[in-house]
Amino acid sequence: MVTRSLKFWASSLLYATLLRECHAQQSDANIGSELGGKLSSDASIYFPGSALFNNATARWSQFGKPNISVVVEVANKYDVVETVKYATAHNVSFIAINGGHGNIDTLENVHNGIEIWMHKLNSVQISAKGDTATFGGGVLSHQVIESLWASGKQTVTGVCDCTGFLGPALGGGHGYLQGRHGLIADNFVSLEVVTADGAIRTVTDKGPESDLFWAMKGAGHNFGIVTSFTQKIYDVPNNGVWSFVKHTYTQDKLELLFQYLNILGNNGRQRVDVMYWATINRNTDVDPVNPVIDIFVLQEGVETMDAEVSLSLLNFAPAVTVTHSGPYVNISTWTEFNIGSRACDKGDEGPQIARFPINLKSYNLEALRSAFNTFAQVTANNSALTHSTIMLEGYSNQGVQAVDEASTAYPHRDDTILVSSVIISMTAADRPAAMAFGDNLRDIFHTGTGEAEKHVYVNYASGDESLESIYGYEPWRKNKLSTLKAKYDPENRFGFYAPIPAAGF
Ligand SMILES: Cc1cc2nc3c(=O)[nH]c(=O)nc-3n(C[C@H](O)[C@H](O)[C@H](O)COP(=O)(O)OP(=O)(O)OC[C@H]3O[C@@H](n4cnc5c(N)ncnc54)[C@H](O)[C@@H]3O)c2cc1C
Repeated sequence: MVTRSLKFWASSLLYATLLRECHAQQSDANIGSELGGKLSSDASIYFPGSALFNNATARWSQFGKPNISVVVEVANKYDVVETVKYATAHNVSFIAINGGHGNIDTLENVHNGIEIWMHKLNSVQISAKGDTATFGGGVLSHQVIESLWASGKQTVTGVCDCTGFLGPALGGGHGYLQGRHGLIADNFVSLEVVTADGAIRTVTDKGPESDLFWAMKGAGHNFGIVTSFTQKIYDVPNNGVWSFVKHTYTQDKLELLFQYLNILGNNGRQRVDVMYWATINRNTDVDPVNPVIDIFVLQEGVETMDAEVSLSLLNFAPAVTVTHSGPYVNISTWTEFNIGSRACDKGDEGPQIARFPINLKSYNLEALRSAFNTFAQVTANNSALTHSTIMLEGYSNQGVQAVDEASTAYPHRDDTILVSSVIISMTAADRPAAMAFGDNLRDIFHTGTGEAEKHVYVNYASGDESLESIYGYEPWRKNKLSTLKAKYDPENRFGFYAPIPAAGF
């Protein structure tokens, strides 16, 4: 079995990238006159030094930051077409940017690139029948959630208000409603996509380019820029009421807690109305010496969480407990994924944040303790990596598993737990140590699975993973993705987010 890392493909792009960089520097001076005249009156072009350039290029993490020399703020799909054509004609790198939260290191292969800033494409149109809605390709998650909520509707979204909607969706997209309705991408009805040749293609499950539709549902960053999309939407059940609890525990409860979470996980049949995530992090108010464990639980449809769910967690004697209940739209505030929270903080400078994800089906308690001990050791004594955290997400999965795995590019439907070590360092100098730490933690979890394959969620990938671990190990899947890459993007213009080689992998 041939395993090639993203690094290999990134380095094979080096020559082309250098060439593009050289052209970019020459073309920056001309872009205003050459491209500007072809854009709509609501579009703009920004250069370094302007406040809007800084705003457009601000990142959640400096790890995985593309190097941008021009921002094109597009106002409609034709602006996207013209910008893609301009960039390809001048051999300049370009990248669509929406929420600015992507942090895979292959984005750093954008040198002197054009950022296609999508945020003005934020229209929302609910169908007369009320079962679908059509959105602009630059909507953020909170814009989707709030606009649907106002009409008594909802759909699957990511959990953070300020990520783009499509950034998560193009990699599959996990969220609280996936137990009921599948991944975000499972709810695509149609996508309008600008491909590398500048064509606007409307793709659906049954249309002539259903192969591209398939690819966009899990490997979508590789194939084009989505300018609008139509999504299945649903009536809000139970008046949209949810309950929430966050417990903080000292480390001696680690095994008890995750044994309980294994029971809650129920061999991949976790209750559809209950989901949780846990973090291992430092909180010196609770324990000045050891990391602590936070467990966050959500239950749909009730103001007071079922005793079956809440009592065990209370019996494990948390050091701190916080509870909330209320409407679905308030969840991001309870969980601190709302606008204004640290999760939505972006800047030109700031922390380097890399994730080292691995999917699981259940927790191996020995591996978990080993990872905990490693985490405790490396983050001790105010080390450079002390703000890191291990995140363990357990959303219900029925809706995800109900979709035939072969029917989308998303490859890992039987995995029910997303573990990601989120390694945070304040300087680039700490990057080698951060990478080694993250990889070590991931290896511990992987060894604990007892499986040869390592499954990784593309949207959490740091960039040093094998393509198989991200896109799937089945030969037919790899062949299909490379064949489609050769068909729709033979020159690898969309080659900056876990790039798939046209030549096969
Ligand atoms: C705080 C936080 C919370 C998260 N929560 C979730 C979650 O709940 N569920 C989940 O699945 N993931 C989640 N993620 C991971 C998330 O899916 C990725 O970080 C994703 O890349 C963010 O998209 P963005 O638009 O914000 O980022 P950007 O950096 O703007 O975009 C990321 C990439 O998406 C592509 N892209 C963006 N817009 C378009 C478009 N219109 N057409 C084509 N390509 C496009 C580009 O390749 C771009 O490089 C979270 C990440 C963070 C940091």
